[in-house]
Amino acid sequence: MPMFDKKPHVLVLGGNFAGLACAQKIRHYLGDAARITVIDKKSYLLYIPNISSDVFEDRNPALHQRLDIVPVLAREDIDFIHGEVTGVDVDKRTVTFVPAERGGAEAHVEAYDYVVFALGNRLAFDRIEGFVDFGHTVTDIYHGEKLRQYLKREYRGGPIAIGSARFHQGDGADGLVPYPGGSIPRALAACEGPPVEVMMSMATWLKDNDKGEPNKITVFTPGKMIAEDAGEEVVKQLLDLATRMGLNYWHDTQDITRLTAEGIEFADGRFLQAELKIIFPDWRAHDFLKGLPVSDSEGFIRTNLCMQNPDYPEVFACGDCAAVTVPKLGAIGHQQSDIVGLQLGKAFGKVDPEKADQPLKPEVLCIGDMGDGKAFWIHSNSWFGGDIQKLKLGRVPYFLKMRYRDLFFANDGKIPAWGLDAAEMIAER
Ligand SMILES: Cc1cc2nc3c(=O)[nH]c(=O)nc-3n(C[C@H](O)[C@H](O)[C@H](O)COP(=O)(O)OP(=O)(O)OC[C@H]3O[C@@H](n4cnc5c(N)ncnc54)[C@H](O)[C@@H]3O)c2cc1C
Repeated sequence: MPMFDKKPHVLVLGGNFAGLACAQKIRHYLGDAARITVIDKKSYLLYIPNISSDVFEDRNPALHQRLDIVPVLAREDIDFIHGEVTGVDVDKRTVTFVPAERGGAEAHVEAYDYVVFALGNRLAFDRIEGFVDFGHTVTDIYHGEKLRQYLKREYRGGPIAIGSARFHQGDGADGLVPYPGGSIPRALAACEGPPVEVMMSMATWLKDNDKGEPNKITVFTPGKMIAEDAGEEVVKQLLDLATRMGLNYWHDTQDITRLTAEGIEFADGRFLQAELKIIFPDWRAHDFLKGLPVSDSEGFIRTNLCMQNPDYPEVFACGDCAAVTVPKLGAIGHQQSDIVGLQLGKAFGKVDPEKADQPLKPEVLCIGDMGDGKAFWIHSNSWFGGDIQKLKLGRVPYFLKMRYRDLFFANDGKIPAWGLDAAEMIAER
C-alpha cells in the first residue's frame, strides 16, 4: 500500500465482529487523527449467531449471514486489505500478510504505530478424529448448509448428540479481577450457548418434522456443568426445562476422543450412541500467534482489562483472540471494542483518561433460538464475580434475536448503545 499519508497508522487484524467494531470505534474516538486499516482474509462479516436458525428453519445461510465490509469500512474512510496475516513482529511493529484473492501471491509487510489483534481463533475440527466423516456443526456457512441438507435428505431418525470438545484456555487472564473478588475463570468449553441453543432448536425441528421426541437428544459438556458462564441459577432453570422436555444431559465427559459412525467416544471412557453428532470444537489460537512476546501459554493475546498488552502498550486485542475473552462470545468482544476505541482515543489525546480508563466488566449476553418463534435470553456476570443472573424465555427474545441481526446489517454493524439498553429492558422487564 502506498504510504502518502503521514498520520499514525492503526492496523486492525481481522474484520469480523471484533475487528469491524474496533475499527469503527477507533474512527469514532480519533476522528481523522489516524490512518486506519483493517486486514482480513475474507471481505465479508460472517454473522455466525444466526446460522443455526437458518439451518433449522430451512434457509441457506450463505444468502443471509454475510455483510460485505468493504463499503462499510470505506464509508468511514477505513482502508481494507483483503489478505491473510501470516506473521506479526511486535518489536519491529510490522505485520506480514499475503493478498488473499488469488492463490500464489507474494508476501507484503505493513508497518503500524498501533495494532489491534481481532483475529478470532481456529475452530479445531481438524483435531477431532472422525469429524470429517461423521460430524456436523453450525459454526460457519459450509457446515451449516451441510447440516441443513443432511436433515432434509439423509437423517434416518436416530439418536442425536450435541456438545463440545474440550477447550484449552491459556494463562493470559490469570490474576485479572473484573469485579471485586472475581476473576476470569478457567473454562473447559469455549462457548456453550450454541449447544444449548441447538439442543432446543433440534427438539422443535424433530416435532415439526414428525421425526420423534426430544428424548432422542443428548446434550453433553466436558465441564461439570454446561454453560457455566451463564451462572448456576440460570443453568439450573435451563436444565429443569430440558429435563421436563425429556432431553438427556451428560456432563464431565472431559473431551471427545473420536467420532465413529455409531457415536462418540469420550475421554472419560463413556460412549454415546448417536446417528447425528453436532459438535462444537476447541477454540485454538492461530499457530502464528503462538510464542509471540504478547501471547499467553496457548497463543491467545495477553492484555489487561483495558485490552492493552502490559509489555507492548501499542498492542491491543479484542474478541475471541484475546486471552480475557472467556467464554468466546461476540457480546464480550463488543464490550471490548469500545474499550479499545477509548484507549486509543486516550493515546491520541482525544479522550480524557478518566473517561477512557474503564476496565472490562464482562457480561454474558446470549439469545438462543429455541424454534417455534421462541428463544431464551441469558444475561449474567456472576461467573466473573458480579451479581446478575437472568433468564427469560419466549417470543420476545426471539424477536430481539432476529431484529438485532437486521439492525446490525442495516446500520453497518453499529448497534447504538440505546439499542442494547432497549433490548435488555424489553427482554428483562
Ligand atoms: C454457532 C455459534 C453461535 C454463536 N452465537 C453467539 C451469540 O448468540 N452471541 C454471541 O455473543 N456470540 C456468539 N457466538 C460467538 C461469536 O460468534 C464469537 O465470539 C465472535 O464471532 C468472535 O468475534 P471475533 O471478531 O473476535 O472473531 P471471529 O468472528 O472469529 O472473526 C475473526 C476474523 O479474523 C479473520 N482472520 C482469521 N485469521 C486471519 C488471518 N490469518 N489473516 C486475516 N484474517 C484472519 C477471519 O476471517 C474473521 O473475519 C457464537 C459462536 C458460534 C460458533
